[in-house]
Amino acid sequence: MKYQDYFRSRLDTLRDEGNYREFAELERHRGAYPRAKCHSGEGDVTIWCSNDYLGMGQHPDVLAAMHEALDRTGAGAGGTRNISGTTHDHVLLEAELADLHGKEAALLFTSGYVSNWAALGTLASEIPDCVVLSDALNHASMIEGIRHSRAQKVIWKHNDLEDLEAKLAALPLEQPKLIAFESVYSMDGDVAPIEAICDLADRYGAMTYLDEVHAVGLYGPRGGGLAEQLGLMDRLTVIEGTLGKAFGVVGGYIAASAELCDFVRSFASGFIFTTALPPAVAAGAAASVRHLKASCEERTVHQARVAEVRAQLDAIGLPHIENPSHIIPVMVGDPVKCKFISDTLLRDHGIYIQPINYPTVPKGTERLRITPSPVHTAQDVAKLVTALEALWTQCQLARQPIAAQ
Ligand code: PMP
Repeated sequence: MKYQDYFRSRLDTLRDEGNYREFAELERHRGAYPRAKCHSGEGDVTIWCSNDYLGMGQHPDVLAAMHEALDRTGAGAGGTRNISGTTHDHVLLEAELADLHGKEAALLFTSGYVSNWAALGTLASEIPDCVVLSDALNHASMIEGIRHSRAQKVIWKHNDLEDLEAKLAALPLEQPKLIAFESVYSMDGDVAPIEAICDLADRYGAMTYLDEVHAVGLYGPRGGGLAEQLGLMDRLTVIEGTLGKAFGVVGGYIAASAELCDFVRSFASGFIFTTALPPAVAAGAAASVRHLKASCEERTVHQARVAEVRAQLDAIGLPHIENPSHIIPVMVGDPVKCKFISDTLLRDHGIYIQPINYPTVPKGTERLRITPSPVHTAQDVAKLVTALEALWTQCQLARQPIAAQ
């Protein structure tokens, strides 16, 4: 019983701080995205905070591939990859992903989280004496993977090349090193200086591990991510991505040399000891990757929609972090007001934007993370901006642009 009291008091504290998470229960309908029925509101809502950045989760090619594979193969993979769970669909998807990133091989995991946790953790723990140099704002999945590895960890200031270099220089030259960072950071939408980090890695003999979860499908001529856009894919040791965001399905992966993938495949418990993704998921993800390799249309319209939302927010002076990506963090700076705005948008305007509070972001930087997609219309944008303006006035929030850190 005393445990129940403990659980309740911890949850009460979260509620008092305005940091208790409530889920909006959505009922999605085929082809209706960004509209969905919301059980916590009245009628249909327009979703403005999804990571299905391009609406590929509803793309006819993806759905057709999943239906076809479901009818052909059944529901589940039936085992771990090692014990009966490797199907032709998994192998084809891995080949598709290796090609996407110009690497010899790719290795699938059940999510992006698992891929970071397992791959980074395995490299860090299995390479003798390896030190991981981790960007201060790396995602929880990388942090947990490094922690689990028990390898030496050095945290460098976010996107700070001088700090990274100082920390590299302080380590023995012959010690194995792995620099772990992201291309697009999910909450601020800022981007890493990938080329300069690769230069430092070369200079100090380090491997590089780049999380492109918020960039794959979205950047580069074939959707290979920011590294593809910048012509840097071959300079990265490992590129990690997800199939659950721009590709609209679920799953995670690394792309790297054949030997490195084989190494992770052979030693990573998060790969070895878990049931493989359903083959229908692999087939749907492969269709999505294939489509976005061949078509730039979604990426072009996406960027235009992002620019339109930004311009309209600027026009009314709503503070949002200026960044070169598709993520628009509108800064509220107060957890209670952030939740109030989110609740009111849902209840009175049929607009769903989840509030982003601590611990996802530091206290005092609470925000609405807006993610426009190619399937939002000009009317959707106008409605969003009008509603936000009214709530900004109601909450007496400041209006000024906030520069990226
Ligand atoms: N890396 C980053 C930077 C992320 O933001 C996320 C998910 N939010 C992940 C990895 C995990 O990806 P997935 O959702 O596929 O587990």
